[in-house]
Amino acid sequence: MARMIFITGGVVSSLGKGLASAALGALLQARGYSVRLRKLDPYLNVDPGTMSPFQHGEVYVTDDGAETDLDLGHYERFTGVASARSDNVTSGRIYSEVIAKERRGDYLGRTVQVIPHVTDAIKDFVLAGSNDVDFLLCEIGGTVGDIEGLPFFEAIRQLGNELGHERACFVHLTLLPYIETAGELKTKPTQHSVKELRSIGIQPDVLLCRSTHPIPLDERRKIALFCNVSAERVIPARDLATIYDAPIAYHREGLDTQILSVFGLKDAPAPDLSRWQNVVDRVNNPEGEVRIAVVGKYISVKDSYKSLSEALTHGGLANNVRVRMEWIDSEIFERDDAAVYLEGVNGILVPGGFGERGTEGKIAAVKFARERKVPFFGICYGLHMAVIEAARTQLGLEGAGSTENGTPKHPVIAMMTEWTKGNDLEVRSKGGDMGGTMRLGAYPAVLSSGSRVAEIYGVSKISERHRHRYEVNTEYTDALAGQGLKVTGWSPDGKLPEIMERSDHPWFIGVQFHPELKSRPLEPHPLFASFIRAAVEQSRLV
Ligand code: GLN
Repeated sequence: MARMIFITGGVVSSLGKGLASAALGALLQARGYSVRLRKLDPYLNVDPGTMSPFQHGEVYVTDDGAETDLDLGHYERFTGVASARSDNVTSGRIYSEVIAKERRGDYLGRTVQVIPHVTDAIKDFVLAGSNDVDFLLCEIGGTVGDIEGLPFFEAIRQLGNELGHERACFVHLTLLPYIETAGELKTKPTQHSVKELRSIGIQPDVLLCRSTHPIPLDERRKIALFCNVSAERVIPARDLATIYDAPIAYHREGLDTQILSVFGLKDAPAPDLSRWQNVVDRVNNPEGEVRIAVVGKYISVKDSYKSLSEALTHGGLANNVRVRMEWIDSEIFERDDAAVYLEGVNGILVPGGFGERGTEGKIAAVKFARERKVPFFGICYGLHMAVIEAARTQLGLEGAGSTENGTPKHPVIAMMTEWTKGNDLEVRSKGGDMGGTMRLGAYPAVLSSGSRVAEIYGVSKISERHRHRYEVNTEYTDALAGQGLKVTGWSPDGKLPEIMERSDHPWFIGVQFHPELKSRPLEPHPLFASFIRAAVEQSRLV
């Protein structure tokens, strides 16, 4: 069975617990161990799929079609291990499973309680399939002391007890605030947070302390004394210029060495961090810069486009350039001329989105990119906007639109009700559950030979992740091809357009899926690498 590492958070939220867990996973991999990461989310939604990006940030989609927490994206980017439905659970899902069992009579007349029934369900979730890896890292969402998190903390406390010290380690992430006027780092919030953790029966083994300033040895000793850990297990986690430096920085501070010593692994092989050093060197020493305008709707919350901004950065890494992202609220283009904002950018990206607000502005951005021959990348809703723009402007279909936003005269984007997945027929209905009617997860696509995308991917069959309800309506694709906008990637049954590209433009590609979900710093996604290359070329022209 895997050794378990439980990662909890204290003091405040937003300390980057997901990133810290992911970087620790990468660090253990660099020592030759296999890892898997899981996230336990205490909120009551069954999954984040129905939550607004303004509330929750991006919804990360796995190959097996689960809508999950964005931390799973960090896990995948750092470790390269594809996550699955079994790697993220919420209180909502745990409770709905327990209640369904109760209704079926599975509890044989017993009183159903948080302890042991809910905690058992959590433990089953944590341990499922844990035999396959050396380390299972399990992050608990929220902060110690949150009422809704209590069953999760109780479950991991029990697991710590059952597995013993050779098999379980508790890492607690805290904050040492710096008080400007006193010129001091404060340890009290950390002391209180650990006290809270110990009051529910969990003694942390290692403290990872976020701070903006160096932590003097005396302060580390003080924290050690009050929190009942040794001083070398109080690990500083300073703010970093790039998140991809975290595995290296953590190793420098001894995080992996201390965790391995908790498990009694004293002679573990030294980590090989050269690949991460290479990423950090590229981030720190770019040979140039490109400006990419991202024209979207949820731009006030950066976490809404987390995977997207990372994938653009990776595209920059592949070309040794820094990508300067300019986040533009598409509604601006409904008032002002797009040219005012887009003049001088080297590429335009219209990302995924939902609902009518801001769509006319996105269409204006597509028009600018098409006419001015600026590299254009449309992702999911961005592809839909490109199709609507071409239908209206080039085919002269006034009132062309998507059935997502009413009943347009020319439904160039529409809901398909049936398609095949493997050998199965999948069916969806307009009135179905909001959480259940999307085409979700990995689907294959076949690329047309001789197309630009076939050249970019270097293969003829790909698999990419989806999250949408509407599709390009094939009744219009021949007419669009006549205007240069051609389908160059199809679902294997030939029913659903997956990719469209323009033959009359330096780089204009729209995709029905979300390639950003599969891009990694050590392996930038080919479409992002190619888009940024086109932007570099464009920057040389202007
Ligand atoms: N709103 C569109 C749909 O549901 C696109 C979704 C997306 O961009 N992820 O089809």
